[in-house]
Amino acid sequence: MILITGGAGYIGSHVNKELSRKGYDTIVLDNLVHGHEESVKWGKLVKGDLSDEDLLDDIFGNNDIEAVMHFAAYAYVGESVEDPQKYYLNNVKNALNLLKALNASDTRHFIFSSTCATYGVPEEVPITEDHSQKPVNPYGRGKLMIERVLRDYSEAYGLKYASLRYFNAAGADPGTEIGEDHDPETHLIPLVLAAASGARENVEIYGTDYPTPDGTCVRDYIHVSDLAGAHIKALENLKRTSQSDVFNLGNGNGFSVREVISAAEKVTGSKINAVEAPRRPGDPAVLVGSAQKAREILGWQPRYDDLSAIIETAWKWHKKNR
Ligand code: UDP
Repeated sequence: MILITGGAGYIGSHVNKELSRKGYDTIVLDNLVHGHEESVKWGKLVKGDLSDEDLLDDIFGNNDIEAVMHFAAYAYVGESVEDPQKYYLNNVKNALNLLKALNASDTRHFIFSSTCATYGVPEEVPITEDHSQKPVNPYGRGKLMIERVLRDYSEAYGLKYASLRYFNAAGADPGTEIGEDHDPETHLIPLVLAAASGARENVEIYGTDYPTPDGTCVRDYIHVSDLAGAHIKALENLKRTSQSDVFNLGNGNGFSVREVISAAEKVTGSKINAVEAPRRPGDPAVLVGSAQKAREILGWQPRYDDLSAIIETAWKWHKKNR
């Protein structure tokens, strides 16, 4: 049995689908603050919060949990700057509760949803795992804290973990059963598609004076189903080697905001009204990761290396659900 915290959310629900497809039994623990009950189409759903230590003890006590995949977290960078306590309580304190319950049980394997935001402003790209980690916002700092905690717990308690540092998760389940549905939505691709479908009047481009070829920010978009596949590979690697480790998960290709918009225009066949706007605080010009290590050690091979193909899956889901 695999415990998936935050399994009703965007990435967690795709991982739940992939685990189920591979024959794993799953339990999703989600407080449904941002997650969607209807996204838990596989396994069992427990509605609850990681602040509830008794609930965590019950879950570990009453189920044979071989591993935990921990997605439950708040993930709005801007909000983390305005209300850091909210982020440290949920993303740090509640993660410590989860690890405490895990340490008191027989479970030994932990997969952590980390982020390229732990690197801060890159000194060089593509970013490798040994790049310095100097996060520039409370969201990234909280995630980094848990990475450090895991390292210490792994030394002290025999817990074995993989920290997976995602670049920009994008796209949707190609079977259109689940997709990206944030409220509020702040992510580029769903906003661009909403502008394409007429649900929004326009999309704002946050900054056109970056030191990049077209002046807009460059990101490494990785398909959410490829991310899901990497979690299963990381779990299998932990079971095989019992080696704690850290992996970047990205495509290694950068696309600018303007390139995303023009790819979305081709995919949707609609003109997208893009409006130039000021920079969004805390956005580095370029974030592109090297996932060479995940390819070599985990044998992970992302299937979607083409931006249009990624957007295509998001568009299919968008048309079905909006
Ligand atoms: N972005 C944008 N307009 C939007 C939302 C995002 O120009 O309405 C830009 C943002 O500045 C960043 C990129 O698109 O460079 C991806 O942003 P997103 O919020 O999707 O992901 P993040 O990089 O913050 O994880």
